[in-house]
Amino acid sequence: MSHVLAAVAWPYANGPRHIGHVSGFGVPSDVFARYMRMAGHDVLMVSGTDEHGTPIQVQADADGVTPRELADRYNRVIVEDLHGLGLSYDLFTRTTTRNHYAVVQELFEGMYRNGYIVPKTTMGAISPSTGRTLPDRYIEGTCPICGYDSARGDQCDNCGNQLDPIDLIDPKSRINGETPKFVETEHFFLDLPALADVLRQWLDTREGWRPNVLRFSRNLLDDLQPRAITRDLEWGVPIPLDGWRDRPDKRIYVWFDAVIGYLSASIEWARRSGDPEAWRRWWSTDGEGKDARAYYFMGKDNIVFHSVIWPALLSGYSGEGSRDGEPGELGRLNLPTEVVSSEYLTMEGRKFSSSRKVVIYVRDFLERYDADALRYFIAAAGPESNDTDFTWAEFLRRNNDELVAGWGNLVNRSISMAAKNFGAIPPVDPAGLTEADEALLAVARAGFATVGDLIGRHRQKQAIGEAMKVVAEANKYLSEQAPWKLKGEADKPRMGTVLHVALQVISDANTLLTPFLPHSAQQVHELLGGTGVHAPMPVIEQVDDLDGGPAYPVLTGDYTVGARWESVPLEAGRPLAAPKPVFRKLDPSIVDEELARLAG
Ligand SMILES: [Zn+2]
Repeated sequence: MSHVLAAVAWPYANGPRHIGHVSGFGVPSDVFARYMRMAGHDVLMVSGTDEHGTPIQVQADADGVTPRELADRYNRVIVEDLHGLGLSYDLFTRTTTRNHYAVVQELFEGMYRNGYIVPKTTMGAISPSTGRTLPDRYIEGTCPICGYDSARGDQCDNCGNQLDPIDLIDPKSRINGETPKFVETEHFFLDLPALADVLRQWLDTREGWRPNVLRFSRNLLDDLQPRAITRDLEWGVPIPLDGWRDRPDKRIYVWFDAVIGYLSASIEWARRSGDPEAWRRWWSTDGEGKDARAYYFMGKDNIVFHSVIWPALLSGYSGEGSRDGEPGELGRLNLPTEVVSSEYLTMEGRKFSSSRKVVIYVRDFLERYDADALRYFIAAAGPESNDTDFTWAEFLRRNNDELVAGWGNLVNRSISMAAKNFGAIPPVDPAGLTEADEALLAVARAGFATVGDLIGRHRQKQAIGEAMKVVAEANKYLSEQAPWKLKGEADKPRMGTVLHVALQVISDANTLLTPFLPHSAQQVHELLGGTGVHAPMPVIEQVDDLDGGPAYPVLTGDYTVGARWESVPLEAGRPLAAPKPVFRKLDPSIVDEELARLAG
């Protein structure tokens, strides 16, 4: 057993999340975490909503609410959506907790003491008519990188690059349209060049990464510049230094605070577990966490934060860059083992866009379709290592032809036939198993090594393909053995054997599919007469802030129960449940309906 951290990208709380988002960070991380737990590892899976920064402030202004009120609204929506998908977070929290503020400030101070955060005079915008500071969010202009004409002072929403207001071409105040004046102002910068060597050494020792992610990360190191980590903004974590702490107009930049969420959420989980130091088993380089592995899951637009910025922060805090230094009170911290980045999902050939309504939100999807139908599509046809298009026609085909006609049909006809003729798991004929019986059982048993290895190496598409091969073999076996023809008294023992073999293989295939399809796996377990939890599910709990802030909902769960990653022999005579379909066949008319919604 080893300690495995599943660190999942933090969804931004400025709106509901769509299926493109959850296909990048959500489902792949859950499949991995579920498998690793089933295989006996001690997994800690953490994340939360990312709630600071300009976009939330801008939208709150537009809606006439406070940023906190806006974050509260979408934090709850996102928590409920991730719960609906069955994502098994040990803790899904948020960045507005007091615990998170304290951990962010501790990392900032530690890096500052070690010399990796340095003050620098830079040019900030003021309004010429009032003489007051003009926050980044109130400045708009043309992006110097992609030419998008509504880029904001801190980021271009079109190309995703971070900007400084002074970089914008033709900057304008969004308040009154005037051209801002740039004057000298002080900010704090992360000294990335001082951490370049340690980052390069770390990247050189990485194994098994997707080649494009490693290449992209290496290229980022070629031109590292100091990067501003504070902004002119009121919404965010205060700067924990004398003379800055109480300034209402300067905050730590949202990307700096959000990546620290992996650590603060782990600490929050430990504090809630009753053992406040338990987080160290996944994080402490020197102590009990030194053999822990840490996997980070995200879409490719976030690679830079996980393969450069976050390891730079961890190294600087641990005192490991070219300026040396001492680790802070949290000790030396583990760097990522692997950055697992997926590519983009598009929708009917177009980029997802909430403003242009090219979108299907998780909530709307789950109102009309089952969570496992979406999870199946993402695992089998998602953007694992190539940009991939979601089409309703392909969703329908995958659901009806593979999930319903392949897996659902195997489960349904085998269990129905066994229930009708035996009422229980049938016994094996004393005459024994044939070669065909043995061969099929062996295929299913071999799946545990094959599928497990592929999930462990983040090849989930291939993994679910191998699991579905077991299903296809079992369907072929049933057609060949035709147990429905073995009706007579003399043939009945053989019918029992065939159905016993089929049900055993269904039980094994169900375990192989459990990380991908946890909801239906629980149902199949119960249809086979199993009791108790097979695939544990997350729960939403309303909790008090540990340090006196407002209460909030979290996702958590007890995942110590449930199936293990192994074949469990079925006992003859175990009563079977009344058969009922596990998956829903969809009517082809949903394609036109959904396309009409998209157009409307
Ligand atoms: Zn741009």
